[in-house]
Amino acid sequence: MREVIAALRAAKTVVMSLHRQPDGDSIGSTAAIALALRRLGKDVTLVTPDPVPKVYDLVPTYQEFVPWESVAERRFDLVAMFDCADERRTGAPSDLTSYGARVLNVDHHATNTCFGDVVFIDPQAAASAEIAARVIDQLGVTIDREIALALYVGLETDTGGFRYAATTPDSHRLAARLLDAGLEPGEISQALYERQAVSGLRLLGAALQSLQVREDLSLAYVVLSAADFARSGAAAADVETLGVVDYARRVDGIEVGALLREEGPGQVKLSLRSKGLVDVARLAASLGGGGHERAAGATLAMSLQEAEATLLSLLRP
Ligand code: 5GP
Ligand code: MN
Repeated sequence: MREVIAALRAAKTVVMSLHRQPDGDSIGSTAAIALALRRLGKDVTLVTPDPVPKVYDLVPTYQEFVPWESVAERRFDLVAMFDCADERRTGAPSDLTSYGARVLNVDHHATNTCFGDVVFIDPQAAASAEIAARVIDQLGVTIDREIALALYVGLETDTGGFRYAATTPDSHRLAARLLDAGLEPGEISQALYERQAVSGLRLLGAALQSLQVREDLSLAYVVLSAADFARSGAAAADVETLGVVDYARRVDGIEVGALLREEGPGQVKLSLRSKGLVDVARLAASLGGGGHERAAGATLAMSLQEAEATLLSLLRP
């Protein structure tokens, strides 16, 4: 942590990137650190490999995220990532070292590849936002309402609204502190969860229609094809914000919930969720992905049918 603080203090210009298909924790922790660094007079540029879903428009700096291509000609003192488990997930078209002198990697994924020059990983943290709050405290920056809002979005979304097993007393203590900074939790959850486009809900309907339960494998899974997206008019980002895969895990008596989502011809995104007995990070890692014990994913270069067969054989004892 001392090295993290030293690296941030030493940099005058910083570029920060979200991870692919950015979630609330990627955006929240990144925005909070960016705001804190600006309070210290630093020049911070924000990039994203994929568009930031509109549900996160309540996060300060939401408007500022630009594609990597727009910083192609620039060089920064520091390239900093929060919540990004591996270098490929930054989506940067060139090696990260071509954008800056040093690379900082702060995260809570146990499967983090430890890329970069300064690395801080705390798998005990329920969200990268928890680590970001510690960094901001150590930088000596006050957590004002704006920073609190960014951190809260990260913490609230990555703990599934403080429901997931990774949630700790520290998560709740941080939440209390953030609410004390002037946040209204009801307003924030309404902004996050009750502004869904009808197209997204129609897609959820298609996902629920596709539900398959394999009691022999202790698996429930849903499948979304490119045709489902075309029919409903929903976007890939809706899958994340609706928590589609969580519905598969809800099935009584099964241990693992999964989602297969066709991203394009010959490319399928697999999401895995576990109730606790199965380490899905290990399963995802065996397919070139990663994540946490209870939430993991991988991108598979195959057809939807092949991906379904791969999933079933993955769970076969
Ligand atoms: P999701 O299923 O919501 O996309 O991801 C669940 C968890 O698995 C997240 O913590 C995410 O970082 C991780 N994850 C998802 N896809 C990949 C992947 O392709 N590679 C790696 N390393 N982690 C992934
Ligand atoms: Mn994330």
